[in-house]
Amino acid sequence: MKITKVRTAVIDGNFPWVLVRVETDAGVTGLGEAYWGAGVAELVHRAGELLIGDDPTNIGKLVFLMERCLSGEGAQAGATVTAISGIEIALWDLLGRAHGLPISTFFGGRFRDKVRVYADCHAGETPDPASYAEKAKAIVAEGFTALKFDLDTPNPHAFDVSEDPHARRQWVEPYSRVIGAAELRWMVAVVKAVRAAVGPDVMVAMDAHWKFNVNDAIRLAQALEPFELVWLEDPVPPINIEAQRAVTQATRTPICTGENLYRLEGFRELIEKQAARIIAPDIPKMGGLMEFKKVADHANSYYIPMAPHNVASPIGTVAGAHVSAAIPNFLVMEYHAHDVDWWGDLVEGGPPIVDGFIALSDKPGHGLTLNEGVARAHVKKGHSFFGDEP
Ligand code: MG
Repeated sequence: MKITKVRTAVIDGNFPWVLVRVETDAGVTGLGEAYWGAGVAELVHRAGELLIGDDPTNIGKLVFLMERCLSGEGAQAGATVTAISGIEIALWDLLGRAHGLPISTFFGGRFRDKVRVYADCHAGETPDPASYAEKAKAIVAEGFTALKFDLDTPNPHAFDVSEDPHARRQWVEPYSRVIGAAELRWMVAVVKAVRAAVGPDVMVAMDAHWKFNVNDAIRLAQALEPFELVWLEDPVPPINIEAQRAVTQATRTPICTGENLYRLEGFRELIEKQAARIIAPDIPKMGGLMEFKKVADHANSYYIPMAPHNVASPIGTVAGAHVSAAIPNFLVMEYHAHDVDWWGDLVEGGPPIVDGFIALSDKPGHGLTLNEGVARAHVKKGHSFFGDEP
């Protein structure tokens, strides 16, 4: 069996979902997904060209080949790694389909058949903590046992978004920001309201998008301790491991990070210095299924659980769930498309998430078949559908 083509279709979801199809001369294909970003689809084509004529089952060698050939262009981190991730996931799907086995089998089999997901809720309809609580209750009523809100954006006490024509302006707030007294009171009130609304047994996480200085990150994390968050995500950027570690070691609120780190190399020091209590790699971004497994195994040797960050379509999500099922130290995986009502329709056979869990099938590969009609209807302007007109 030889690889003949690597093609893409970019689907216009809440993020541009970069689907990757690897085709072979045996007629078997694999479908993967890469995290979104400028140039990722083009990089998939560029990396895919390197694989034409190769045996698709030598996945480790093919990934190594792409990394080596593109090393001068940045195959250590960033969009090149992301593009390789999408191809890698397609190769695992292809291998599964060629052998009639689900992806999880190739990673050692399953610790669990159902993978818990958490719903990313972003924010309340208004800044009133009661609005956050109401949204949390609605999510739990749908069957979710885990959820996450953003604590920093929008934040009525940090920045007046009402007068800002640029909705994303808060993202350019400087790092190392100070938390004011009113802002801290508001953040605590939000968390308190959400915890009261969902009760003690639902996992509640909060995200702060790398905003604060070390001391205020610790103030915030300590102020949230009574509410037993499953984690506080990115109160500081993880780039300076010592600073990240100072926050993590100063609070019993578990600090989580990792969505912007790449490959095992990007996580190694974070794990070894115990600078995070929970690790959140984005699988279709950081290197793919095998690279995630390497990070998970290394984290497990430090007794650190994994909570994959995820903004993918059903393809990337369920592929990630297969490897998540195969690690002992899995906690929960993100679902970021609650507001996209056709997310589950992108694949045949009904939505992959039911009652807050992904039930893995025994079908070959990731087990999903793209619903072509739905996919073609949502191809992003300027992109093809795997080489065809949409
Ligand atoms: Mg985050």
